Amino acid sequence: MADLIGQLQSLAATARDAVAGAADERAIEELRVRFLGKKGELSAVLRGMGALAAEERPRVGEVANRVRDEVEALLAAARARLEDRKLEAELSGPPIDVTLPGRRLLPRGHRHPLTRAADEITAIFSRLGYEVASGPEIELDWYNFEALNIPADHPARDMQDTFYVEEGTLGPGARRGSVLLRTHTSPVQIRTMKRLGRPPVRVICPGRVYRSDYDQTHSPMFHQVEGLCVDEGITFADLKGTLAAFARAYFGPATRTRFRPSYFPFTEPSAEVDVSCSICGGSGQKSGGRCGTCKGTGWLEVLGAGLVHPRVLENGGIDPTRSTGFAFGMGVERLAMLKYGIDDLRLFFENDLRFLEQF
Ligand SMILES: [Zn+2]
Repeated sequence: MADLIGQLQSLAATARDAVAGAADERAIEELRVRFLGKKGELSAVLRGMGALAAEERPRVGEVANRVRDEVEALLAAARARLEDRKLEAELSGPPIDVTLPGRRLLPRGHRHPLTRAADEITAIFSRLGYEVASGPEIELDWYNFEALNIPADHPARDMQDTFYVEEGTLGPGARRGSVLLRTHTSPVQIRTMKRLGRPPVRVICPGRVYRSDYDQTHSPMFHQVEGLCVDEGITFADLKGTLAAFARAYFGPATRTRFRPSYFPFTEPSAEVDVSCSICGGSGQKSGGRCGTCKGTGWLEVLGAGLVHPRVLENGGIDPTRSTGFAFGMGVERLAMLKYGIDDLRLFFENDLRFLEQF
């Protein structure tokens, strides 16, 4: 028994010296395996316990536990010492200047002018208390036409050359012409009213829309921003004030607005809204000649608007005898073209970096 206890004590002494000399984490781990591992020195000594008398074993076991605890504590202390030393080296080393400008390996990117224009329009209405709403681009005929007071035989459906989804791809039971690519963002009005269920409704809906059209001022895919405000006591004066505030925020503080009577199936009364030309200041003249942007009229047609038709409110689940509302819609491409002086809409979609890098 004395023999085993002696071996344990000398193991502890060896461990003390060895751990004190360990220079890194790897050395510490090697020592742990050497002394405490399954095939380590401590296990080897304990294998000798089998030869002891039963009454001697507890005494040896006690010493063995003490030695194991001591070696474990030595290893933990050595690890902590290493950590401290590492931190100290970091703190006393040469400082890193976090204020140094980075080295730019790639030129900075640009937001697409259409994204910029849509973001700016959305931000202006957000400041007026509007929330952003969105809806599907593949839409049901009901939301795109029917609910907006555009029945099947209405000429407005001919006016908009619509991309319909072929009924063969829709599965059995699909009605011809029942699914389409939305031709305007107006279906989001119906979806929003149905979702909220009651006034007040104040939303702005930016998004992609599709029509079969392609020339200098038309693209089969383009962007609209639609606005809808419904509450008790909303009048045309609210519409005028809102759009005048928007025009001043987007085109500049001196911008004037003009409302001309118009017709849309989903609003009554309806209006086309013009703003004073931002290029010639509304004079129609530029450097002695005719202003090309407004064609000498001093006005730019920018959006359509009106008071929401009672039947549209009804289709949205809102009682038209209690609530009224106004809606407006504008083309993002047109507003971007006017703001940045771009004369061909197709430039937006050609991905020519010489064009895009100017924004
Ligand atoms: Zn002009």
